[in-house]
Amino acid sequence: MAQPDWHPDTKAVHGHTAVSLAGIDPVNPPIYYSSTFRANSAAQFAEMASEERHPGFYTRYGNPTHEQVASVLASLEGTETAMVTASGMGAISTAVLSLVKAGDHVIAQTRHYMATAKLFDEMLPRFGVETSIVEQADLDAIEAAIKPNTRLIFVETPANPTLVLTDLAAVVEIARKHSKSEGDDKILTLADNTFAGPFNCRPADLGIDVVLHSATKSMGGHSDITAGAICTSRSLASVMWETSLTLGSVLSPMDAWLLLRGLRTLPLRMERINSNALELASWLEQQPEVTKVHYPMLQSHAQHDIARKQMKGGGPVVAVEVKGGYEQTSRFVAALRLDSQAVSLGGVETLAVHTAAMWTGSMNEEQMAAAGISPNFVRLSVGLENIDDLKRDFAQALAVTV
Ligand SMILES: *Cc1c(COP(=O)(O)O)cnc(C)c1O
Repeated sequence: MAQPDWHPDTKAVHGHTAVSLAGIDPVNPPIYYSSTFRANSAAQFAEMASEERHPGFYTRYGNPTHEQVASVLASLEGTETAMVTASGMGAISTAVLSLVKAGDHVIAQTRHYMATAKLFDEMLPRFGVETSIVEQADLDAIEAAIKPNTRLIFVETPANPTLVLTDLAAVVEIARKHSKSEGDDKILTLADNTFAGPFNCRPADLGIDVVLHSATKSMGGHSDITAGAICTSRSLASVMWETSLTLGSVLSPMDAWLLLRGLRTLPLRMERINSNALELASWLEQQPEVTKVHYPMLQSHAQHDIARKQMKGGGPVVAVEVKGGYEQTSRFVAALRLDSQAVSLGGVETLAVHTAAMWTGSMNEEQMAAAGISPNFVRLSVGLENIDDLKRDFAQALAVTV
């Protein structure tokens, strides 16, 4: 069922296409756990092999379970189509590598998910693609970075881990203003929408060309799969599909099915996550043991006006700075009872990461300071627990450690 006029909350439940087999019509679609599919004639075989994104030829080319979840993803993000990949990095690398060639220039941000930063800082330059890394809150810097050979602008908002925002409509405007051509040859804008998610922010509605997700996070929502999503136009998806055949970031049909299952409750989960996260962030801001709370929906967020303009809710990630140094912060995170000390975000359970501890092996103090990570910085992903229990848990952990 592809009903164009339903609300996204309804599409999350009904957006997949019904599949009917020999008179059996399951309400919940089956998993097509097959790597390959039969043809019953030479003509059909030729058609299967040549048709773009045929869902029943070979699973790296397409799979009916991929197609079902992709149609829900496109509905949620408001794009013509969507593709799934084996991870968020699979989506990001496939999308970016599809669009650039040696001699092109790309603009990215100072704050990115670590593996994304490596793509821009290290990998693309090795292949002769020039990159400019600019401060994402500074629109003038983004505009000033544009060159005659600029191919794309990549943004991530809110950005990991400091929750700095990028004004999406303004970036689209900059790209439009400086594009010398139209269509897919213009300066393309790509947004990693993992932190906000389509319930809170729809970048394509603001003119962003490609919306990317780590569906491992809120979209899957249960900390049980890794998956990625590319939501875009049919013409760009066509180019990305070609590239995906070579890069091979293929989502397992089982994980595609679990993603479909997760998406049905995405709107409901996000409502609760938004309210829990905002309430916990506001409460933490009032605690004497806390020096700073970063959350887009707090009045105190430096870019709260942008949050109000482009986001419906703040999403799961709240960053907290506590009084004291590295040791106290480590003890505080360890004293939390409901919060597992684990990476990732957007699951049903609350998670806490002592960011400086996570990066001690791979960054020196200077690099951490540049990334906005102080020794007392804690990144939370707020889950679905009862809010009073969460506050009680944080209160006891703050009381004993800070
Ligand atoms: C987790 C994450 C990624 C990478 O996704 P994987 O599914 O782990 O490959 C990319 N961007 C953001 C913002 C993320 O949080």
